[in-house]
Amino acid sequence: MFKKILIANRGEIALRVQRACREMGIRAVMVYSEADREAKYIKLAEEAVCIGPAASGQSYLNMPAIISAAEVTDAEAIHPGYGFLSENADFAERVEKSGFQFIGPTPESIRTMGDKVSAKQAMIRAGVPCVPGSEGELPDDPAQIRRIAKAVGYPVIIKAAGGGGGRGMRVVHTEAALINAVAMTKAEAGAAFNNPAVYMEKFLQNPRHIEIQILADKFKNAVYLGERDCSMQRRHQKILEEAPAPGIARKLIERIGERCVAACKKIGYRGAGTFEFLYENGEFYFIEMNTRVQVEHPVTEMVTGVDIVKTQIMVAAGEKLPFTQRQIEMRGHAIECRINAEDPYKFTPSPGRVTMWHAPGGPGIRVDSHVYTNYFVPSNYDSMVGKIIAHGDTREQAMARMRTALAETVVEGISTNTPLHRELMVDAKFMEGGTNIHYLEHWLEQHKR
Ligand code: ADP
Repeated sequence: MFKKILIANRGEIALRVQRACREMGIRAVMVYSEADREAKYIKLAEEAVCIGPAASGQSYLNMPAIISAAEVTDAEAIHPGYGFLSENADFAERVEKSGFQFIGPTPESIRTMGDKVSAKQAMIRAGVPCVPGSEGELPDDPAQIRRIAKAVGYPVIIKAAGGGGGRGMRVVHTEAALINAVAMTKAEAGAAFNNPAVYMEKFLQNPRHIEIQILADKFKNAVYLGERDCSMQRRHQKILEEAPAPGIARKLIERIGERCVAACKKIGYRGAGTFEFLYENGEFYFIEMNTRVQVEHPVTEMVTGVDIVKTQIMVAAGEKLPFTQRQIEMRGHAIECRINAEDPYKFTPSPGRVTMWHAPGGPGIRVDSHVYTNYFVPSNYDSMVGKIIAHGDTREQAMARMRTALAETVVEGISTNTPLHRELMVDAKFMEGGTNIHYLEHWLEQHKR
């Protein structure tokens, strides 16, 4: 096992990985920008290295600075967390060329899955069902594009091959709007992702977002850890997740989970990963794969008892997966609320000094957050400041525990979206379960203030 790991991230995920290292008896080297000097995990760190100024381009995205930090501290491996460099194949390659183990899949896997067109092609070859659409990148010829759209059937969605974070997508309802929409998405994709390639998918009207968590080792062993329902989204960004997905038959989950495992074996995938699907009328349609640990991984940890971060580290160190599929059991239900430093209804960011932080507790409650009273939330990064996770024997119990937890939560000095979560947790449709990806946007529209 590694003796020392460098954690190339910040915020709650840096703390999460640091906790896993502590538990495993591994020394964790933390890195930080000048804006994160006061972070809890830096105060708790055995070793910490400043890698640059607040701007992420000069710190958390600065590959030479991070690799030098690993060199001067004699770390053996680098955990990238999520966001920042976690899905950057060039970074993974540079880490390994510099003699460190990258805690994640191979650079080739990251590259294939990072391009949504090549990812979809790999999944079709591996027998994973995909959203019907263009066979690959769209051609330039307008007549051909029209022909493809006609065959797929309107409405269609034009998506950037290099897109991410809910950006680089455009829905088209009529042939008249098609060619212009393709040109606009191409131009935006070229500017935003440095890759103008776009592809076409059928636009599913009322799907749910269901994803399958997998773990794989270097010996082609792979398991799936059930599913998560992440349909509660605003602008294609998740705000609340749960496991298992309400109302989907276990048989269907098992079938798609086995497909994902087979795909992992086929592409030689190692580490943690997530297959994201849209689910409509009893069918799953692959949309993309995330080749890293995800924000919402704790709901899976709560229902399976598997520590995903620890397992990532073990398989990166060359160990075998410590469990087989038959040993994975789902117990009860878990819900996660993402706590963002933002206005709960207008969504404007709310960075600044937290004058009071009181985290909830009690049976079945887990809080992953780097925040404490007097912590300053910098304006330079994502607005998420923590996550509250509630586990119960049933979905009803998990919701009841979450309501209690949210009622106990006190954050002063900044605004957070806690009031929104409190309302959603007593919303009749959410309580019923199985809402689709448009539900939250509609709800917000109806509850405008
Ligand atoms: P990103 O990498 O930017 O997150 P995804 O491909 O994962 O992009 O899609 C993000 C979200 O966009 C999905 O969760 C879903 O809400 C919506 N979406 C993507 N593709 C489709 C589609 N074919 N039909 C309907 N909605 C879609």
